[in-house]
Amino acid sequence: MIPVMRPWLGPEEAAAVAEVMASGWVAQGPRVAAFEKALATKVGVPHAIATSSCTGALHLALAALNVGPGDEVVAPSLSFIATANVIRYVGASPVFADVDPLTQNISAPEIARVLSPKTKAVIIVHQGGVPTDIRSIRELCEPRGVAIVEDAACALGSSYEGALIGSHSDFVAYSFHPRKVITTGEGGMLVTGRADLVDRLRRLRDHGMSISAAQRHESRTPVIEHYLETGFNYRLSDIQAAVGIVQLGRLDAIVARRRQLAHRYQRQLAGIEGLSTAADPPYGTSNFQSFWITLPDDFPVARDDLMTTMMQRGISPRRGFMAAHLEPAYADVRRTMLPVTERLTRQSIILPLFYHLTESEQDQVIAVIEECARLSPRTGDIVAARS
Ligand SMILES: *Cc1c(COP(=O)(O)O)cnc(C)c1O
Repeated sequence: MIPVMRPWLGPEEAAAVAEVMASGWVAQGPRVAAFEKALATKVGVPHAIATSSCTGALHLALAALNVGPGDEVVAPSLSFIATANVIRYVGASPVFADVDPLTQNISAPEIARVLSPKTKAVIIVHQGGVPTDIRSIRELCEPRGVAIVEDAACALGSSYEGALIGSHSDFVAYSFHPRKVITTGEGGMLVTGRADLVDRLRRLRDHGMSISAAQRHESRTPVIEHYLETGFNYRLSDIQAAVGIVQLGRLDAIVARRRQLAHRYQRQLAGIEGLSTAADPPYGTSNFQSFWITLPDDFPVARDDLMTTMMQRGISPRRGFMAAHLEPAYADVRRTMLPVTERLTRQSIILPLFYHLTESEQDQVIAVIEECARLSPRTGDIVAARS
């Protein structure tokens, strides 16, 4: 099977893990601190807080902003379910905004339609690595005192207006799940320029504790810690951080290769009428964490049938992004019209794309799509290929 994703993990990661084992310190400690520093430097942000997941990082951001019951948080429905879930973790209400059909991201005009006096924050998602137009959303939100949190789970290595995603707003969260561009097995990171909130974010990550385990370990005198508020356990381990440091060193090569393969998909699929693909917006670049195609409504083969055909040919695609408002867990959210979201979630497919994907494997994927594009919808027969 050609998988949708395969992480690039080598002997360097294994050696880094072995070193942590030999050191005797495996929980959050010096490697986590080094990983935080390396990522903060990479994306040009003063502070980074490593977490056990991106979901945890997003939760911490909303908690530090004191978002809670009675507040509304605007987010796209077209996203992995975690984007909506974190809003409920703090007791706030998700309000879904529709997305732009080309970037599959929320936009200032769509957010403006659902803002209310109760809106406390907006979660921007850089879906599949395609950057959202942050500037116009800041211009809408900042005068109204609405905070912005970036769900950049997929967008490490993507850029906006010439700078890597991470430095454009106060809270930006990444994921290191194996489906993302670099991985630590599980893991996440919150980056922030908010010096006034860093200590609280670190504390909330670690049970609300006044002093970290590493600090206690280093002290030559007894340290009695205190629990200043109800926190969480969102710590990353040094085992994971050691892997993350090596992975971060591979980021530029991974993104370069992904972009090369994405452009190859774009070129080869350009001849199929009405089919659109993931692409860079005018204001930034994507890491192409997910390379999607969106089928036109009159495509000869239904989306799910195209996926079945691919699987029969040894290719493992994924459906396009899910839409939270269509899931039972969110059936009680006030119904809003989300026509673009509903069309994209129904008509999109995510194609295999990873560092070690070969061009001949990619050609197999392209061949199935081209073949289905030439099928006559009524008879199912192959009609003459377009010249
Ligand atoms: C993967 C993903 C998450 C969750 O990341 P975890 O690290 O698994 O918690 C959140 N939001 C989006 C958009 C994602 O793609």
